[in-house]
Amino acid sequence: MTHIVIWLLMASSIYAAEGPRILIVTDLEGVGGVNNAEEQLLPGQRRYEESRRLLVGEVNAAVEGAVKGGAREVVIWDGHNGSRTLSIDEIHPRAKLIQGRPTPANYYLQDKLYDGILFVGQHAMAGAKNGVLAHSQSFNVQNIFLNGKPVGEIGQVAAIAGYFNIPVIMLAGDEAACEELLALQPKAETVAVKRLAGKGSTLSLSHSEARTQIETKTRRAVEHIREFAPWKIEGPVELKFEYYPETPGATSAELSRDEHKQVSPRTVTYRGRTVLEAFEQWLGK
Ligand SMILES: [Zn+2]
Repeated sequence: MTHIVIWLLMASSIYAAEGPRILIVTDLEGVGGVNNAEEQLLPGQRRYEESRRLLVGEVNAAVEGAVKGGAREVVIWDGHNGSRTLSIDEIHPRAKLIQGRPTPANYYLQDKLYDGILFVGQHAMAGAKNGVLAHSQSFNVQNIFLNGKPVGEIGQVAAIAGYFNIPVIMLAGDEAACEELLALQPKAETVAVKRLAGKGSTLSLSHSEARTQIETKTRRAVEHIREFAPWKIEGPVELKFEYYPETPGATSAELSRDEHKQVSPRTVTYRGRTVLEAFEQWLGK
């Protein structure tokens, strides 16, 4: 055997022994069966506890798939309603949980801190065709542009992850959210747990079937994790938020213009040499 073959065998066995590290980003609007903002999204609403149960089921199915795929570490980032939706007594025993505010500009990432990122319960960007409960950060935002390209929460996570050389490898959410990720990461595995069936109604898989598919696709994504490439954005970077006319994002008192932040009645624009710098202008250092 040549040295290079021996080295490759050693490298792959070390990798298998250690296994990839996975971050799971969660939300609630993209969970199967969830379609009603008045009843299913916030504490105190009639079906909120049911939504939480369904989220926990989908998240834990993803953890199980990641573990079976060889992951050595799985961290869940609670992403819904100010990062206070999940509980440590309900998550899979092999996972850890990130909760709390504010969200740091680096989204808890560092260079290659994880080998891949998954979304569970994810919704599409504001205005997305056939999106279920589609929005971008808040229901007041009409558009977010990253160097002129429309993005939602999926694109924001993929962009900062790409800056840290981490690919997004899997998404579970509504059909429009799946398509949104595939436009950025064509090799990603996706599970459409529901799709729009009428104006505000959805056609969902059973929870049991959603869990089965999420576990299977997550396992496959983690087993093939070395085939994924991160989504890289060349600098300089401009991150622009455009608000709906009836809900202006900025009052006239906030109107300002400087090198890194520009505010007009309907838009706020943040600039940096890199994605991270633009996010730091937005979220603070
Ligand atoms: Zn949410």
